[in-house]
Amino acid sequence: MIKIKLFVVNPIHTNCWVLIDEESKDAIIIDLGGEYKKISEYIAEQNANLKFVLCTHGHFDHILGIFEMQIANPEIPVYLNKKDENIALNINSVMEQLGIRGIDKQDKKIKITDFIDENTNNLYIGKNKIQIIETPGHTQGGVCFKINNYLFSGDSLFCREIGRCDLPGSNYEMLIQSLKNKISILPEGTIVYPGHGPSTTIKEENLYNMYLQ
Ligand SMILES: [Zn+2]
Repeated sequence: MIKIKLFVVNPIHTNCWVLIDEESKDAIIIDLGGEYKKISEYIAEQNANLKFVLCTHGHFDHILGIFEMQIANPEIPVYLNKKDENIALNINSVMEQLGIRGIDKQDKKIKITDFIDENTNNLYIGKNKIQIIETPGHTQGGVCFKINNYLFSGDSLFCREIGRCDLPGSNYEMLIQSLKNKISILPEGTIVYPGHGPSTTIKEENLYNMYLQ
């Protein structure tokens, strides 16, 4: 059994997902957008061990907590698609481009330790395989993570919505194709945990999300 806990972090209200495999006590974090101290305390309370951090994409609001983590625990691997490395390493200019206020500029860069794509075949939490599905469109390097019947969809798919495509590097047509070709076809019972807002299922999105019609 995998226990899933949500932390809503930073002024953009990003969903940061903490997964703990109850058997092995492996913990992973998907989209560490802030609050590393609080999250690491939670993981310790659960007697679990943080194995690595996965990033659905390189936008600042999904990675801000990595700064704090890499001071406290620089040994923890951080996984991101190579195509988003540039935006992840230049968050000050991305925040400036997007007119974001209320988040401090960072005087350091985070370190991406490993790159992932659809061919990455060796990521597990306990015995549960982590499948990487590339869904470019919101960003060039955006991915979803599928673990058992859970899908962590980042900013590619939301409940009844899709990610913004008016940002530098985003592409609406590409996102629609990604979602129609790779996400809509997943088993209907798949539970979707997005990067912002409430969770949903593939069945409901196929029925009610206007972008998937
Ligand atoms: Zn984003």
